[in-house]
Parts: sequence; structure tokens; C-alpha cells
Amino acid sequence: MEEVLHACAFEDNYIWLIRGTSPSHVAIVDPGDAAPVLAALEKRRLTPVAILCTHHHGDHVGGVGDILKVYSIPVYGPARERIPTLTHRLADGDRFSLPELGLDFEVLDVPGHTAGHIAFYGSGKLFCGDTMFSAGCGRLFEGTAEQMHTSLSRFAALPEDTRMYCGHEYTEANLRFALAVEPGNPDILAYRDQARAIRQQDLPTLPSTIGRERRVNPFLRAGLPGVRQAAEKQAGRALVSEVEVFAAVRRWKDGFRG
Ligand code: ZN
Ligand code: FE
Repeated sequence: MEEVLHACAFEDNYIWLIRGTSPSHVAIVDPGDAAPVLAALEKRRLTPVAILCTHHHGDHVGGVGDILKVYSIPVYGPARERIPTLTHRLADGDRFSLPELGLDFEVLDVPGHTAGHIAFYGSGKLFCGDTMFSAGCGRLFEGTAEQMHTSLSRFAALPEDTRMYCGHEYTEANLRFALAVEPGNPDILAYRDQARAIRQQDLPTLPSTIGRERRVNPFLRAGLPGVRQAAEKQAGRALVSEVEVFAAVRRWKDGFRG
């Protein structure tokens, strides 16, 4: 049985529907819009048991209110962000169970994209919102490069077969940038072809895995000499620490038009 279903919202958002041991119950992750979620629940005859929110941006929480008008269910989310609909305010190290799904989750504080951004980790799956994307990472709207580097390092330390579900389908554009950073990386070249074929069928490139992200994601690879050299060339100066390399790669991506 496929464990994680999805609904699409807006241009490129994914709203994940996590199924556990029960085929008919789901948890909804980051419902930026209610309509596609309610349609998916109805079509597949699914009953939601909880909403999980990674951060306060509208494209991740905008549909919570309308879902709650139809289903009275708990809303788990970051303690340090202002999301009025939360019933369970979570911070680093918190754990909770969704018994209807037979699933347990651990909470990771992963600031950088927003100041209070959290991720949900459990059963070999990571729901990381806009902190990490496949072959990329979120923009630094509220956090520092150092915070984001620390957050991504925590993801990188998870088991390599961890399946990673992020908030947006940005993979192909991210891989164009990844190739600008590491033009000869065979894993990036292979993944680019694979992602193109998947997108041509209008399917999600996700989930990715932590193992793959370590091989292709430039934001997890700031410690490698090749990435450092590319970042130094771009920045026009020597970069001393890994965080400096990371910050330079993030700035490079901000202005990148691939
Ligand atoms: Zn966001
Ligand atoms: Fe987003």
C-alpha cells in the first residue's frame, strides 16, 4: 500500500496525506489550500485524523481553517510561530503519536526559511516543509545562513534511506543550479534525466531520500572542495568556513537564472 498520497495546490505546492496502518485514515501535512485536500479525501474516502504544519507561510497553512470547518481534528505545528489554529504547539525533541495511523513523529527545530520552522520525522520519513527541497533548500526569509546550515546538517545526519517529503516541486530547477555548482557530478546528471522523465508524466519527483540528497544537493555539500572552489569563484574571494561556503552558495542561488 502506498503510504503517502498527495494533493497539489497553487503552482507547485504538495500537500501530503500520510497513511499509516489504516487504509482509510490520513494526516494532512501543510494544507495551504483546503479545496484540493477536501476533494482528495472525498474521492478516496479518507478520514483525516490530524493536520501537521511545518511553518506559518500561507501556502502551507492557508487551508487549515476551512478543513477544520468540515473535520474537527487536532492541528500540530511550531510553538514559536503564530498559527492561531494550532492545538498542539511543538518544539525540538517533542514526540507525539497518531494512534489511528499507528505512527509516531519526532519534532526537529529547523530554523532558516522561517524562524520557528519545524520538521516531522518518523517511520523513516521526513516532512521538512520549505527547509530542504530536493537538490535545494528554502530561501532565508527569517533565519541566518548559519541556522539553515545547522538545520540541513541535521537532515543530512538522518539514515540515508529516509524518505524526504518537502513542500514544493522545485527539483528540476534546483538540479540546473546544482549542475552550475558541480558540472561534472554524475549523480546530478543522472537525477536530472530521471526527474525530467518523471515530470513529463506529470508525477512528483518526491519523495527523495537523504542518501540521494547528500549526493546531489549543493546545500548539503558545502564541505566538499569542489563546491567550495565553485562558491569562491562566484564570490570572488576565499571562503574560510563551511558556513561561509553555504552562505555563498545560497546567495548564488538567489540570483541564479538557469
Ligand atoms: Zn514557506
Ligand atoms: Fe512554501
